[in-house]
Amino acid sequence: MTAASRADCERLDREDPIRAFRDRFRLPEGLIYLDGNSLGALPKKAAERVAKVVDVEWGEHLVDGWLKDNWMGLSETLGDKIAKLIGAEDGEVIVVDTTSINVHKVIAAAMLMRPERRTLLTDKGNFPTDVYMAQGLAEFVERQHRVKVVEEDALEASIDEDTAAVFLTQINYRTGRLYDMAKITAAAHAKGALAIWDLAHTAGAVPIELNKIQADFAVGCGYKYLNGGPGAPAFVFAPKRHHDKVRQPLTGWLGHANPFEFGLDYKPAQGIRQWRASSPPILGIVAMEAGIEDLIEFGIDKVRAKSLALTGLFMQLIETRLAQHGFSFATPRDEMRGSQVALRHKNGWPIMQALKARKVIGDFREPDIVRFGFAAPYVRFVDVWDAVEHLSQVMAAEEWKKPQFQAKKWVT
Ligand SMILES: *Cc1c(COP(=O)(O)O)cnc(C)c1O
Repeated sequence: MTAASRADCERLDREDPIRAFRDRFRLPEGLIYLDGNSLGALPKKAAERVAKVVDVEWGEHLVDGWLKDNWMGLSETLGDKIAKLIGAEDGEVIVVDTTSINVHKVIAAAMLMRPERRTLLTDKGNFPTDVYMAQGLAEFVERQHRVKVVEEDALEASIDEDTAAVFLTQINYRTGRLYDMAKITAAAHAKGALAIWDLAHTAGAVPIELNKIQADFAVGCGYKYLNGGPGAPAFVFAPKRHHDKVRQPLTGWLGHANPFEFGLDYKPAQGIRQWRASSPPILGIVAMEAGIEDLIEFGIDKVRAKSLALTGLFMQLIETRLAQHGFSFATPRDEMRGSQVALRHKNGWPIMQALKARKVIGDFREPDIVRFGFAAPYVRFVDVWDAVEHLSQVMAAEEWKKPQFQAKKWVT
């Protein structure tokens, strides 16, 4: 994707086959929002539906809502919709808990499926919570497992006869590097290990085929490219071929085969329902639903095509217009990238603060990464142009040196 002027970008926006998608979101006037990889924007319909559920379902129906409004079935009906975005079937995805808690469940399930093996393998680029959850499990019972964390390029060679599971995040949260899931899943299977995928930066941005590649388990995050809102519930994928064999450790009452019998012996539910432990967070699930339906309507392939065009254009403009300012790319230049571009710069923190003061919203990740997320449903080509223009001005005038941009904050 190339564009030599802002007018070129305006033309690209006019020709964009999913340009109407942006109108489905509420976006503050004048803001260039390039942080949908951290917290997705608000679908207008989400606000309306939550208001209705609060007012009518909770307000009027009260406890009858569990059946009358299908509250008890929502984790599964929304799971079936997410399944369409990630190459899974109905009954293989359920919306429950949070990403970290679901990581705990799938890794523990994999440990039980490979009882003679002791290694849980991941890479140094994985998101810390995934690694922490595995470490917690390895230390908690029996203390026979170890979590092995290797360099990304050493990963495949590190899978061996002791590897119970390889657990990875497909798209690196810092750099945006994208793993070939089919290749790594096949490499794990060739050694008898299971392959577990965290789709936090994949779901809603990059189409994948979990069943075609025979992934064993996956988890994903609701509040990034799925636009489910702050603290949105997450999801679990467990393929039908594992349903009869698998057990997960958080054996709460709603994962029981007959929760309303209130018996005192746990017996897992059939199918995907076993992955539920507690009462579903209805308001959170309702808030997620509209954004996911919109992704299905506009098409995840079109979202991906536009995202590659946006990130490609951004990289091209950075290269041509900011060559003198000490940036380097942490994101691969080829198509093995997700929907974000990460730039390295030794003054990354104050540079991002100066951009935010100009209403260009990205974020910063230690030690030196300035991250820009390009959520294709609502980011325009002119936004890419304008963001680069702001960044050029911040660098040319050394605006980032101002004292108010230096102090580190708690949330980066
Ligand atoms: C964002 C993210 C999470 C978030 O976990 P929560 O439990 O929802 O806070 C987990 N894993 C990865 C890879 C992420 O990018």
